Amino acid sequence: MLDDLADLPDLLDTTSRYAASVLTGLPTRPVVRAAPVAPSPLPEAGIGFTGALDLFDRRWAPGFSAAAGPRYLGFVTGGSTPASIAGDWLTSAFDQNPAASDGSSAPDLERETVRWLAALFGLGEEHSGAFVSGATTSNLVGLAVAREWLGEQLGVSVADEGVGALGPVRVHSGAAHSSVSKALSVLGLGRDSLRPVPTLPGREAIDVDRLADELDGTPAIVVANAGTVDTVDFDDLRALVDLRSRKKFWLHVDAAFGGFAALSPRHAHLVDGLAEADSVCVDLHKWLNVPYDSAVQFTRRRDLQLKVFRNAAPYLGQPTDNPDFVHLTPENSRRLRALATWFTLTAYGRDGHRDVVERCTALAHDLGDRIARTPALRLLSPVLLNVVCFTLTHDPTRERVAEAARRIAATGDTFLATTVHKGQPALRAAFSNWRTLPTDVTTVHNALITACTDL
Ligand SMILES: *Cc1c(COP(=O)(O)O)cnc(C)c1O
Repeated sequence: MLDDLADLPDLLDTTSRYAASVLTGLPTRPVVRAAPVAPSPLPEAGIGFTGALDLFDRRWAPGFSAAAGPRYLGFVTGGSTPASIAGDWLTSAFDQNPAASDGSSAPDLERETVRWLAALFGLGEEHSGAFVSGATTSNLVGLAVAREWLGEQLGVSVADEGVGALGPVRVHSGAAHSSVSKALSVLGLGRDSLRPVPTLPGREAIDVDRLADELDGTPAIVVANAGTVDTVDFDDLRALVDLRSRKKFWLHVDAAFGGFAALSPRHAHLVDGLAEADSVCVDLHKWLNVPYDSAVQFTRRRDLQLKVFRNAAPYLGQPTDNPDFVHLTPENSRRLRALATWFTLTAYGRDGHRDVVERCTALAHDLGDRIARTPALRLLSPVLLNVVCFTLTHDPTRERVAEAARRIAATGDTFLATTVHKGQPALRAAFSNWRTLPTDVTTVHNALITACTDL
């Protein structure tokens, strides 16, 4: 180790050249290519950095996917902008722990970056926030604060007394992301507390009138969707905000990637009302294109968040008016995730990131138009933002759609995830990578034709 310390500049140069070759090769790297690797035992004597890099390059790198590249359209993935990679590297170099303020300005960098993100998504000063590892944790934090709010309505403290003090809880949502059920399980509210709200005909957005009927006056939680995963549909947030003035509920908005609609004047109306939400989840390792893992959570009730996550210890001091992050998030020690986001927002600004959103949206529309003209394929929904949801025209069973996905992946040119949309087995192509260009859409469309025409 101490030898490597003496060689540190060379070691980092070598790594930097290696990383640059990986990043340069991304557009031509086969998109998915997991290769089985037999596990090897713990090294007793190390082989030094050069040996480790060499071994990694031979054993593991060949099986790594091009998930950060321009034609990986599975899930909602995103890559990493150049400045965000540099910010991420410096996060490791400085190795700060922004949990508490003592002795470093790192927590203030996180606070500044959270304010920038609030501005990016059209939220005001009343929303405070923190970095967390992903939208799942962001939803978890938002729903934990919601749970504390339910306790407040009943005059009990869930943080102190436990969920038993609440009695049955209802969580209403339309097409909730799977992470919401997971959060409800972790929070002791139970997956069964989730009540599906009917959606509008042909849509994934909730029918607000039906929701109004289901709210009986007992304080409840509503999880609104700003961007569903299959079709990127948006609940009518403005109508939900209006409803909240008549019925008592906590409004949590899962805006994991749909929140980025706020960046584009053409699409910002989709998130009208977001600034009135009680808590908001936005993922950053998706459409902001920063490296894993990164998301932000916002809430208007930091006092309740503090009750849930307060980490009282004599050596940490008491939470103040400007509480340390150790009192606000599930983790205590944590990496300075904000730095990658700080770098990308500083380097490219709102304008640069707006371009990414608008380009991805235009590319999704282009692929949607091409699929609509392809006899073997059938669109399942108009393209609303950045995801194209479609299936096979002929006999689209689960097995045949899965086979189509395998054949598409086997082209090496792209990767799409499968889904079941309103009971129909389907494929999704999600555009969220800053590197994707119009020529990539041609390549993807050709891969779909090759894979699906003779299926
Ligand atoms: C991706 C996603 C999540 C979960 O995000 P992770 O970053 O994987 O934890 C939650 N909600 C929605 C709408 C998503 O798209």
